[in-house]
Amino acid sequence: MSETTRGRVFSGARPTGKQHLGNYLGAIRNYVALQDEYDCIYCIVDLHALTTIERPTDMWHDVRDMALDWLAAGMDPARTIIFVQSHVPQVTELYTLLGMVTPMGWLSRLPTFKEKVRQQPDNVNYGLLGYPVLMAADIVLYKADTVPVGDDQLPHLEFTREIVRRFNDRFGPVLIEPQAKLTDVPRVMGTDGANKMSKSLNNQIELAATPEETLKRVMGMVTDPARAYRTDPGHPEVCNVFALHGIYSPDRVAEIERECRVAGIGCVDCKRLFAANLNAALAPFRERRAELAANEDMVREVLADGAHRAEALAVETLREVKEAIGLVLPF
Ligand code: SF4
Repeated sequence: MSETTRGRVFSGARPTGKQHLGNYLGAIRNYVALQDEYDCIYCIVDLHALTTIERPTDMWHDVRDMALDWLAAGMDPARTIIFVQSHVPQVTELYTLLGMVTPMGWLSRLPTFKEKVRQQPDNVNYGLLGYPVLMAADIVLYKADTVPVGDDQLPHLEFTREIVRRFNDRFGPVLIEPQAKLTDVPRVMGTDGANKMSKSLNNQIELAATPEETLKRVMGMVTDPARAYRTDPGHPEVCNVFALHGIYSPDRVAEIERECRVAGIGCVDCKRLFAANLNAALAPFRERRAELAANEDMVREVLADGAHRAEALAVETLREVKEAIGLVLPF
């Protein structure tokens, strides 16, 4: 990480294994682009994942797949700190300390907490309640001044800013109040055409899938329901395949739109074209991923090095925080 005046970005994502098109278009490609402008810290937040996991799980499998996808997509460990949340245990200490300045009422009133209680009524654990405090600890531990967010995530970041203000009011100006970097996060719909692309809904197209698997997934995509027969004119504005053609077939969009409206092109041919263009766009990513996957030690080394660099920042922040609070240091 350079000693320049560049801003410092932090962002985290749960270990969800192999990443899909929605992950890429909604987050990963932005993560990659931000490296040119900022010193970036990207974290796989495995502790957050524990708030919804009830049984032992092969977390490493998901962490490794996610890291492979990030690296293959262009995250550069020479410039960027890439690490796993639990590998820097100082985050849990800061989480505890920030918890002391966070009113219970703030947490229990959050719509996201209420939604989780509704989703998992049999597993309403303390971690769910404290989730926003751990998120705040993630960001401020590494002195990030910038957090990329879509506008729907602004309230989450505002919560972190409120905790920081409360801490600084009480103990002095130690923590950095992070700013939002508003990012256009496209809502990528799944193959069902009705829900956001999501692994849990099995409506995803994985970046690392084979061309054949990709074609199969694409051919199963739901299109304009008004096109029951090949001769029915279509409405591209309601079709998810068309939306993705906008990204992967920019030269053909006008033609597809025109032909769809007059039933000049059928959905089968339209999907085949999309699958071909998507596979062509993903080919370099897939090649690079296969090379990386052949050397799992390299992934471990990247994550270990990232944790080492992140920990150096974390230790410094925690020292300042404890001094401000008045906790006696053991040295
Ligand atoms: Fe969608 Fe293409 Fe079918 Fe039109 S022809 S409804 S854009 S898949």
